[in-house]
Amino acid sequence: MVDLISMFLFISYAKELFLFLFFCFGLWCLILDLDRQMLKPLSGTGKMYCYDSPEYVKDMGTPERYMAVCEDFKSGKVTTRNLKNKQKAIFLDCDGVINKYVGFLTDINDFELEDGVTDAIRKINESEYLAIVVTNQPVIARGEVTYEELSAIHNKMETLLGKEGAYLDTIYYCPHHPHKGYDGEIPELKIECDCRKPKPGMLIRAEEEFNIDLSKSWIIGDGENDVMAGNAAGCRTIRIKEEEKSLQSLKEAVELILG
Ligand SMILES: [Mg+2]
Ligand SMILES: [Zn+2]
Repeated sequence: MVDLISMFLFISYAKELFLFLFFCFGLWCLILDLDRQMLKPLSGTGKMYCYDSPEYVKDMGTPERYMAVCEDFKSGKVTTRNLKNKQKAIFLDCDGVINKYVGFLTDINDFELEDGVTDAIRKINESEYLAIVVTNQPVIARGEVTYEELSAIHNKMETLLGKEGAYLDTIYYCPHHPHKGYDGEIPELKIECDCRKPKPGMLIRAEEEFNIDLSKSWIIGDGENDVMAGNAAGCRTIRIKEEEKSLQSLKEAVELILG
């Protein structure tokens, strides 16, 4: 079963293979309920391997969905999203861009999306760009927020976005901070790392993991650090809220990029 699913990742290679697989899949669905009879019993057994992928994977179990997939195949959308081909990304800063700036965010209840953010991210999702968050979270090194708490904050962000059909392809965060000597800090995270913006480490990691062409990618942030990280990685940059004349929101920045 797992093999069959992974075979679907190869649908970009040949239409014949694609149609053959669809036929097999249809036949197989007549006999089995994928969720209830296969996936659920396998979960937690260690026999099923799952991974996150921005590649083209769709449920096409109805004629309408199947036709939509055929259209995507013809238009090249399936191939474009294959990670063998260079990808383009829009990197997003978090605080002040996706969520309202409240200083160092340590309480999940203070997390609120900026206006228009879901529309903007949904627009990225519909485009050829991946939506990738790159955020400095020195609150971890300071001992003010645990990894679990940060993960809960990110879950809240993805849930709020998901409710309106928008999603992030991945979230990278830097938990480090260079200055030592504070109460409650985590000494091993108090280092000069390569990932804290203005350094480009998180963008470079994305380049490697998603086969991204950084010269065709963008970073949108509200700070000088974001622009510097983008420049260091060779991306194009947009800084919002810098002054009155600047773009004031993620929505405006995404509209500028995608038209
Ligand atoms: Mg910011
Ligand atoms: Zn770091």
